[in-house]
Amino acid sequence: MKKKQIVILGGGYAGVMTAINLQKKIKNKEADIILVNYEDYQYLTTKLHEPPAGTLQEDKIKIMINEIIDTNKVIFKKATVIGIDKENKKVLLGNEKLDYDYLVVAFGAVPETFETPGVKEHAYFIYNFDSIHQLRNQIKTMFQTYSKEANDDLLSFIVVGGGFTGVEFLSELAYNAPALCNKYGVPLEKIKINCVEASSSILREFEGEMINYSLYVLEQYGIKIRCNKKVIRCENDGVILDNSEKIYGNTIIWTVGIKGTHISSQAGFNVINGRVKINEFLQVPDEENIFFIGDSSIYTDERGNEEPPTAQIAIQQGEHCARNIVALIRGKALKPFKYIYRGTLMSLGRKKATGVVYGIKVKGRIASLLKKVTEWRYYLKLGSIKLFLKKMFI
Ligand SMILES: Cc1cc2nc3c(=O)[nH]c(=O)nc-3n(C[C@H](O)[C@H](O)[C@H](O)COP(=O)(O)OP(=O)(O)OC[C@H]3O[C@@H](n4cnc5c(N)ncnc54)[C@H](O)[C@@H]3O)c2cc1C
Repeated sequence: MKKKQIVILGGGYAGVMTAINLQKKIKNKEADIILVNYEDYQYLTTKLHEPPAGTLQEDKIKIMINEIIDTNKVIFKKATVIGIDKENKKVLLGNEKLDYDYLVVAFGAVPETFETPGVKEHAYFIYNFDSIHQLRNQIKTMFQTYSKEANDDLLSFIVVGGGFTGVEFLSELAYNAPALCNKYGVPLEKIKINCVEASSSILREFEGEMINYSLYVLEQYGIKIRCNKKVIRCENDGVILDNSEKIYGNTIIWTVGIKGTHISSQAGFNVINGRVKINEFLQVPDEENIFFIGDSSIYTDERGNEEPPTAQIAIQQGEHCARNIVALIRGKALKPFKYIYRGTLMSLGRKKATGVVYGIKVKGRIASLLKKVTEWRYYLKLGSIKLFLKKMFI
């Protein structure tokens, strides 16, 4: 039997989980496993809001890929995928083409701007390592500059979008504001943090109690939330709302939503907002050798409800995808993916969080600790006690 080639695109939660589960199951003579990612590390997307707010060093959210994969079983390539040629079963990298028999696409997502004027030019994002590096530098520069020219707009921060990412970042920044003011010799009362949300409430897809507790904490932090207001333009010194009002501020953070990357549509996959709808086995319908998982896919439950894209589902899909690829290679029946929802935890600054765990509502310090436990669980899933011990106290 000819040795098969499995190619995994994207080394985030979904891609890494697929690779390390395949390396446990696949025999060397059965297939080669190749993992391709932009960087030689996985960054923990769920912690991306922390470094720009100054509560965590950027390096702490990195996990070196070669430390978690078995390099005798998985070939890692640090490269940018620029295209997929389905007809010839090839992945196009900058200066190389990779053949595949089985393809796993786990690109994650990119920000949705809804073509709002000025967003690309003036706003910052929280979705990958580069984006948070830029935001971190911007925030640092604003504090440094304020000590030389006391312009209030320098210390006015505007978060557009009151969803999960927006609220986590708002809280983190407000939590750390006293420490930043202390460091740069800036009066705390000069800091203004605004949130603009188009719908009638922040966190609209979450439970009432979670919303109420978050609102209470955000209010304690002094964050001003404006609901039912849409940003129609971003400028270099603020945002224009749909009632023509302008909020002034030199740092705009855009956290309005996500979409899939352009590669999937260019390759000829049927996409909805750049994401590919998959079947119950995680495959692209009618393409049994191609799997889409994590944020780049759309997965619906038996009742046809779309599951929101989270790290939790990406991890479970990675594990399941590995099992189904092994089944395909061995000519066995594939099993449908069953998502096990364990809960949701959203941080509200370093020491508080809110959410639901196994159906029980939690908030405050206990919720914050439980969120840490979910991170520890991930390190253990990666199979590295060393990593768990190294990252446990960050
Ligand atoms: C601030 C924030 C907080 C969050 N908190 C939570 C939380 O508490 N709980 C939760 O469940 N979810 C949370 N999420 C959502 C969660 O992070 C995502 O759902 C999850 O990361 C999706 O995993 P993924 O593997 O699909 O994508 P990612 O983890 O984003 O990984 C995609 C990988 O693909 C790589 N890649 C992309 N394009 C290319 C290319 N062309 N070539 C090569 N490599 C490429 C990227 O560099 C990246 O390494 C949060 C998200 C954010 C932004």
